[in-house]
Amino acid sequence: MSTRIAFIGLGNMGGPMAANLVKAGYEVVGFDFVPAALDHAREHGVIVAESGAAAVDGASVVITMLPAGKHVLDAYRDELIAAAAPGTLFIDSSTIDVADARAARDLVVAAGHRGIDAPVSGGVTGAEAGTLTFMVGAEPEDFASAEPILQVMGGRVVHCGASGAGQAAKVCNNMILGISMIAVSEAFVLGEKLGLTNQALFDVASAASGQCWALTTNCPVPGPVPTSPANRDYQPGFAGALMAKDLGLALNALQSTGVQGELGTLAATIYRRFADEGGAGKDFSAIINTIRANSEAAA
Ligand code: NAD
Repeated sequence: MSTRIAFIGLGNMGGPMAANLVKAGYEVVGFDFVPAALDHAREHGVIVAESGAAAVDGASVVITMLPAGKHVLDAYRDELIAAAAPGTLFIDSSTIDVADARAARDLVVAAGHRGIDAPVSGGVTGAEAGTLTFMVGAEPEDFASAEPILQVMGGRVVHCGASGAGQAAKVCNNMILGISMIAVSEAFVLGEKLGLTNQALFDVASAASGQCWALTTNCPVPGPVPTSPANRDYQPGFAGALMAKDLGLALNALQSTGVQGELGTLAATIYRRFADEGGAGKDFSAIINTIRANSEAAA
């Protein structure tokens, strides 16, 4: 396969994603600021470059997997765009603001390249297994170019619409998730106070109208779903820091569109506080412990 891919950002997600591209036969040239990330990538067959610009030199596709919108825009502006050959396809898989995603695409298009947003869900285990879900905002012809590459890293690739639509889908989905985890956790604590066992509430709600992923897959109490993080002292899973970040993006989107999302706004506040007060490294379902502790304190 002759396609050469530059992979910028070889962290928890980017490292295994780049490794899967190598396994599929692509020539992958990677860059990160962290030496350990570079060493790890090299062990998985990634050619390590000395800078982002050096990685992009000679590549026809540039994938970025960076912490936040500022990192993506800075990297595009400072070095990546100028180093790219005309018509290069820029794929940003970081989770960033819808507005930043559109600004990033405008930058690459103005310089004669092509750009799409392709954020993911599925976490580090999905990145390692190559089973991520990609949510893509792209022109149809750019989606067609990117799809075979994304298929290597993901089990499911959904074309959500034009530029920014991938980030829009991600932010809406994670707003549902954050709100529903708080709802499920409040219900379990209320059930406990009313004398219900957790198993009894689970048996009813999981087969009734309270059914949702936060209850039946990521159940915040130990017992009913043996694989949920609650059974391993809330080791993530999906970390509180990431939920706080994603709800911050949801809040930005609510404010910029004027949508009166009262629960989304409240969920962003609740998870920001949770992350700041010790929950950043715990699974986001550990919010139930905060709700229980607050209830004890108020009793
Ligand atoms: P991470 O912090 O482990 O990795 C990001 C990497 O980017 C770091 O190694 C950092 O050194 C590098 N970096 C920053 N600026 C750079 C630059 N200019 N050039 C080269 N490298 C640079 O983060 P992660 O967990 O891999 O997450 C990456 C993105 O994926 C985030 O936007 C996150 O929200 C999103 N995401 C993460 C998960 C998850 O479970 N970790 C799930 C879905 C989406």
